[in-house]
Amino acid sequence: MADTIILKGKVIITGKLRTKTGLHIGGAAGGLDIGGITNPILRHPVSKEPYIPGSSLRGKMRCLLERQMGKPLTKLIQDVRIHECEDPNDYQECPICHIFGLTPDIVRKDKDKTEAWLAKIKPTRLFVRDAELHKSDDDGLKKLKDAKLDLPYAEIKTEVAIDRITSAAVPRQNERVPADTVFGPFEFIYNLYDVNGTGVAADVAWLKHVFKAMELLEDDYLGGYGSRGTGKIAFEDVTLTLRSQAYYAGEEEASDLTQKHNEQPVPLRGINYDDLQTTIAVALA
Ligand SMILES: [Zn+2]
Repeated sequence: MADTIILKGKVIITGKLRTKTGLHIGGAAGGLDIGGITNPILRHPVSKEPYIPGSSLRGKMRCLLERQMGKPLTKLIQDVRIHECEDPNDYQECPICHIFGLTPDIVRKDKDKTEAWLAKIKPTRLFVRDAELHKSDDDGLKKLKDAKLDLPYAEIKTEVAIDRITSAAVPRQNERVPADTVFGPFEFIYNLYDVNGTGVAADVAWLKHVFKAMELLEDDYLGGYGSRGTGKIAFEDVTLTLRSQAYYAGEEEASDLTQKHNEQPVPLRGINYDDLQTTIAVALA
């Protein structure tokens, strides 16, 4: 029997991402020659505004969840070790590989398991968009435009390495987006699929891991030099919207799933996952 994969809905997670310290997401050193900075940040090629690539956010969230769940690091991508299930039966139970996906070569890699993989492999659940500087917020684009900074939208952080014998200080310069800058709205898209009529319950249950990854990221760092004080971020005003199959057919409105307290979205750690699962199940019934 041929597989059927039905998109039952998408949960759209948006909000603001605020830097709590300087943030360094590296760009190409050759692409920027202002002041001879050796470690420039990534910028939009036309506007020169810094942005946070979805791949940086998503990659860090995956990494932190893999560590939290103690997943084996089974795959080498160039010099980078990541987790990827090697057996279709493990994959069946693995939130990481469902949420963040597998590399396409997994199906071909082990010829004995090709059939089993083809029967079990499902589309990636989570997409993460690039996040620009927040346009309408005083802490976003306008604030950085108005500020007198070392470089457009950025500061230069000079660090020194101390020679252990002579005590000579060798400076190096890193470019950073200043603390208290707002990017957004960030946008995460979480897809809910029904594969072969099995329903969306597993996908809905796994959604909580996305929020856990966001929590873990707040207590870790984004970008480079995190062990030296850079890259602390916070998610703010997190809103959740469900766009169902019926929404895309033009038959119903999107449902607001944002949990609120005193009219404000609850903080990340305040989200009640049981309530969320129930609300989604009712909305999709
Ligand atoms: Zn896995």
